[in-house]
Amino acid sequence: MHTYPLLHKQDPRVAEILEGERKRQEEGLELIPSENYASRAVREALASELTNKYAEGYPGRRYYGGQTYTDAIEELAIERAKALFGARYANVQPLSGAPANLAAYMALLTPGDTVLGMDLSHGGHLTHGHPLTLPAKIYRFLSYGVADTQTAAIDYDALRSLALRERPKLILAGFSAYPKRVQWKRIKEIADEVGAYTMADVAHIAGLITAGVEENPLAVGFDVLTTTTHKTLRGPRGGLILTNREDLARAIDKAVFPGVQGGPHMQVIAAKAVAFSEALHPSFRSYAQQIVANAAAMAEVFAREGVVMVGGGTENHLLLIDSVASFGLSGREAQDLLDEVGITLNKNAIPFDPRKPMDPSGIRLGTPAMTTRGMREGEARRIAEWIVQVLRSPQDAELREQIREEVCALCRAFPIPEQFVPPEEAA
Ligand SMILES: *Cc1c(COP(=O)(O)O)cnc(C)c1O
Repeated sequence: MHTYPLLHKQDPRVAEILEGERKRQEEGLELIPSENYASRAVREALASELTNKYAEGYPGRRYYGGQTYTDAIEELAIERAKALFGARYANVQPLSGAPANLAAYMALLTPGDTVLGMDLSHGGHLTHGHPLTLPAKIYRFLSYGVADTQTAAIDYDALRSLALRERPKLILAGFSAYPKRVQWKRIKEIADEVGAYTMADVAHIAGLITAGVEENPLAVGFDVLTTTTHKTLRGPRGGLILTNREDLARAIDKAVFPGVQGGPHMQVIAAKAVAFSEALHPSFRSYAQQIVANAAAMAEVFAREGVVMVGGGTENHLLLIDSVASFGLSGREAQDLLDEVGITLNKNAIPFDPRKPMDPSGIRLGTPAMTTRGMREGEARRIAEWIVQVLRSPQDAELREQIREEVCALCRAFPIPEQFVPPEEAA
């Protein structure tokens, strides 16, 4: 029996590629901290007939007819997003994290305005002002960073000095490779001192926030929160913007459409609604707590083995390892060796990295996906031990062969679940 029976008949080449990816996911250990597995219910919504429908505009204010069900699904997704984040307004149309950020910038800024964002090599994101991006060509981005690699905490004093000197219109806080809790309140205070807007891009930690494991920036007064819906939130690939301010909500709606997007992807909005209800279920809280517990268990093993971690460990779902200092291997070499045993993670710059971005010193790994498979601290410790063994003996192909089999066996013991919430309990 094929996974995609009709597709297999009509277009076997595509079906085979999809089947290959399905198997790769099933048999490999996913440690990329921005990846996760969406439920079958989310994927059913993604495959629905809503993909056929144009719905430019917003519920009750569309440019085309036939919007009974698109209005209903978007209203439901908005209600659930608001409940999930404790926000007064939500825009569920952003196609992904980058378009969500672009729209938020458009809502808050005029071209030429100054924005402070975290340096990419210190854990920020490309969309926070990298010179190759469109936002960086429109606005004046300046970056702040961490004070040193030992504590790896944001240098809040330096951020304050920079803000006092540059008088930014917006202070942006949000990270893709930052293993620490963020002091949202501290950033909000700095922004208030200089009259800047505050925006939190919580793409990575959204699920930890909605579960109450990490503090919600909106609760300390942040103006705008942007996020993806496919990382710790475990939904479809997509973006989301929230705010408590009515004036900003109106500006955000205009910026998303017609500012930066055309017709929304209604099938994705339906899938977001499903994922939001899964995240509202009490079981999601234990999931988020287990993500953090698993990352801490890995950090324990690495610390015991003398592996050099940026910040000395982790306070969230991800770890950043100085691979050169720990194993004498570049991040790329480490990534490739682990790929051979079926452990997927990514090379990553570390703060003050002396090496180039395409071949940096670090590797980044995280626990959201393995935790979705039901793995706990015991498995987390075993995986960390495998990583250390593989990277300590790069010449030992036989060892890699053996660990590859153990990884396979572990993955077979923890199949990717189809369903996180009993259907009769959902929504
Ligand atoms: C992943 C991420 C994004 C971008 O999301 P895409 O869906 O890939 O566009 C933006 N900001 C942060 C902090 C991220 O981690």
